[in-house]
Amino acid sequence: MSTVSKPLLTRRDDLTARLARDGRYDIAIVGGGATGLGVALDAAARGFKVVLVESHDFAKGTSSRATKLVHGGVRYLAQGNIGLVREALHERSTLLENAPHLAQALAFVVPAYKWWELPFYGTGLKMYDVLAGKAGLGPTEFLSARETLALLPASRPQGLMGGIKYWDGQFNDARLALALARTAAERGALLVNYCRAADFIYEGAKLAGLVCEDALSGRQYRIQARCVVNATGVWVDELRQRDGAATSRDGRGPVKPMVAPSQGVHMVVDREFLGGETALMVPKTADGRVLFAVPWLGKVILGTTDTPRDDLAREPLPFKEEVDFILNESARYLRRAPLRSDVKSVWVGLRPLVKPQDDEGDNTKGLSREHTVLVSRSGLVTVTGGKWTTYRAMAEDVLATCMKRSLLESRAGGRTAHLKLVGAGETGMKAVSICKPPGPHSYGQEQSLLSALPGAGTALCPGLTEAMVRFAARHEYALSVEDVLARRSRLLFLDARLAGSLGPRVGEILLQETGQDPKIDAFGELARQYLLLPG
Ligand SMILES: Cc1cc2nc3c(=O)[nH]c(=O)nc-3n(C[C@H](O)[C@H](O)[C@H](O)COP(=O)(O)OP(=O)(O)OC[C@H]3O[C@@H](n4cnc5c(N)ncnc54)[C@H](O)[C@@H]3O)c2cc1C
Repeated sequence: MSTVSKPLLTRRDDLTARLARDGRYDIAIVGGGATGLGVALDAAARGFKVVLVESHDFAKGTSSRATKLVHGGVRYLAQGNIGLVREALHERSTLLENAPHLAQALAFVVPAYKWWELPFYGTGLKMYDVLAGKAGLGPTEFLSARETLALLPASRPQGLMGGIKYWDGQFNDARLALALARTAAERGALLVNYCRAADFIYEGAKLAGLVCEDALSGRQYRIQARCVVNATGVWVDELRQRDGAATSRDGRGPVKPMVAPSQGVHMVVDREFLGGETALMVPKTADGRVLFAVPWLGKVILGTTDTPRDDLAREPLPFKEEVDFILNESARYLRRAPLRSDVKSVWVGLRPLVKPQDDEGDNTKGLSREHTVLVSRSGLVTVTGGKWTTYRAMAEDVLATCMKRSLLESRAGGRTAHLKLVGAGETGMKAVSICKPPGPHSYGQEQSLLSALPGAGTALCPGLTEAMVRFAARHEYALSVEDVLARRSRLLFLDARLAGSLGPRVGEILLQETGQDPKIDAFGELARQYLLLPG
């Protein structure tokens, strides 16, 4: 077994002291989701001096609310978007290789209840194999009804004609985000959560840095940077508009929004509703949508929806129609229909869908059609769209744009293609399946560090020990109960009632570790929201 390096400490005072001291950076990144963290890691791996600020917690936005699929996107294949699927399939295998404790292959079955579904979907999924080439995770296979039921024991047997099994990946999104942050920090990057980019600094008409504000102390810090990247997901237009207003010239109108948010709802039920460790995929529901039932951390995720929204709520609520859709469609494919009372947690994420932009001469489109990179007149680099699976390719694209615009000097890319993230073992080591309930194995190689911490033998609930809370505070930037129970442990997403009941105990341990208010009451309220179903 390889030795585990000592993890860095993430003491708040040390992070803010560095913010106050190390005033000049090559690159400052705003936003600590998949996109910003990917850029931070790539830039740090190329030897740039990097700072990243996140207004809330890392992955508090969309990046903790994915369907947890590391995928090429079967849907994009149906749309004929071959280049995009190929890129995502390549990134899928890169991620599985670099973080095997957090991202793994998963078998999916499309159950067929109509005669034409087997040849129709089978042919498409065989194409998926061809596109994956060497990056394939296993062959697509046609299954008899009996074989389908063996893999999906809780699927509806009446009328089942067979199924198609194909391979994709699944992951633990918020823990992957933390692994990116910590791996970037190991390469010298400074990453600070609860620190909002409040304003920009200009030298003449050129962007030269930002002012950020510590949400805990209210203190402001000035960060000078040659290059500023806006990776704030669905919130990118706020900063683009601020930049546009500061640098507007006569006759130039306000900056046009580039994001059209769309929300996706997920509901979590007990694993018995699916049975086994194979995901169920419905490529086309009665009203033409896609539905997944994914085994994840000992439960099953049902979802998702795609509903346009005008507002940008931090904790968006599901609509009644979305809940009805997921429950009704699940009932058509599962032996036992999940009821509202079976739902253990409901959570909603906002997709940053990119609107077509008029080319005003100062825009650079990203290589992939799914994400977009724009550079404003002042030099603000904005990146949004894409998906979790392609975060690494997006980061390479962002840095290529920064270099092309001479915001950074040229340095070779490809540094993250084989860069193992913290907790990853040696190549070929067998990790415990992400379908299984969480536990020390979720920490990969770092699980040995947990046993050295106080409270290693004290279980707060199955899969969560006192030592894990201490580890979260000492090494994973956690400050509040929500940070621990939503994104270090995923209990809020798996079982909101149980998570709510643990708030006070987790808060007590956090207070000992950080001396900060762990915000127990706010978490209690949030946990109640994750149990609320409209209608
Ligand atoms: C329902 C749903 C399901 C999905 N499923 C999948 C999937 O299965 N697989 C997949 O590959 N992709 C999936 N995606 C897509 C993927 O989750 C997103 O593409 C990705 O998480 C976007 O990351 P981001 O960093 O751009 O945005 P975010 O994660 O939202 O990060 C932006 C961050 O910026 C911060 N911020 C905002 N303003 C400021 C400021 N002024 N100062 C500092 N910080 C600021 C926010 O707090 C936030 O943390 C899904 C998306 C949705 C909505």
